[in-house]
Amino acid sequence: MPVICRQVLKVLEQLAPSQLSEEWDNTGLLIGDPSAEVEGIMLCLDMSVSVLEEALEKGANLVISHHPFLFKPLKTLRFDSPLGQLLQKIIKEELQVIALHTNFDHAGEGVSAQLAKKLGLVDVKVLQPKYRETLYKLTVFVPREHESAVRQAIGDAGAGHIGNYSHCTFRVSGTGTFLPLEGTNPFIGAKGRMEEVEEFRLETIVPESRLGKVLDAMLAAHPYEEVAYDLYPLANQIKEHGLGRIGRLPEPVSLARFAEQVKKRLALPAVRLAGNPEQIIATVAVCGGSGKHLIAAAASAGADALVTGELGHHEAQVARDLNLALVDAGHFGTEIVSLPFLAAYLERALDAQQNNIFVAMAVTEKDPWQIV
Ligand SMILES: [Zn+2]
Repeated sequence: MPVICRQVLKVLEQLAPSQLSEEWDNTGLLIGDPSAEVEGIMLCLDMSVSVLEEALEKGANLVISHHPFLFKPLKTLRFDSPLGQLLQKIIKEELQVIALHTNFDHAGEGVSAQLAKKLGLVDVKVLQPKYRETLYKLTVFVPREHESAVRQAIGDAGAGHIGNYSHCTFRVSGTGTFLPLEGTNPFIGAKGRMEEVEEFRLETIVPESRLGKVLDAMLAAHPYEEVAYDLYPLANQIKEHGLGRIGRLPEPVSLARFAEQVKKRLALPAVRLAGNPEQIIATVAVCGGSGKHLIAAAASAGADALVTGELGHHEAQVARDLNLALVDAGHFGTEIVSLPFLAAYLERALDAQQNNIFVAMAVTEKDPWQIV
């Protein structure tokens, strides 16, 4: 089955909902045809001529770039400017380009979550929450022989997702009663006769963003003309999105040792550190890309160190006064770690092997900064 660009947008929306994008950002399909058939997908942090050429060479006609290459409003489109040339080539080669930026930064499994995972942090939480998703309890009454079909349908639509478990439900059996009135067409029983049916009371939880899909799936799979179900909001809030992550190291180590670990785990030629190299680091905050605005939040959340990119002289002074160590692993180094996760997610969500498409990371893309 061919995969259409629109389907890719849909699975990306499930991973990193567009409502999580910052207002100033420019995410989604930036250029191309949403109805285009996808042959291959190339992932990168920045769209460039070298990524475009690599995509063409490998047969990818969809590029997913972290940073939006169309950002400021265009007043002219001249083919003698680097951006104009890039746009000309993209249109000529009929490529589609999607940006997955601050929505992927904020997403539960987004950039900083992948950075935290790569650094081996445990008990990871969102550092600066932006959005907490409300959970709903869904209870539906289903005749015994249809329970499995309804349970499967709502689970497939996203109900009962707790941590790394999907399709979590609870059921008890009981007896339902009903009296079909005039004008009905009952699935069981007859008009004007009181009926008793063996039913299951099936319970699960549904995040707000999946509610519409889960209810549609439930109503489609349920045999009754009038489905009896209850839906109520919960005080539990397990889905949290936002900037940065904070977690613990499995074993506290000195700052010097920790910086070495960061360098090794992120496969970088060097990292910079600010702080006393002997200081013991137990709790670590991370932010992929540029996280200087999270210095105060990291310190007040109890972090001993913050790992991010784009840190300068003044940030080092501010962090020192807050007794927060800094490890600057670069903008590129702290974001690129999210792409293997994104590739694996897309392969799974699009059933890439079965549908004969490939998902690859651009190998021509390199950190623009070098160490000499
Ligand atoms: Zn970035």
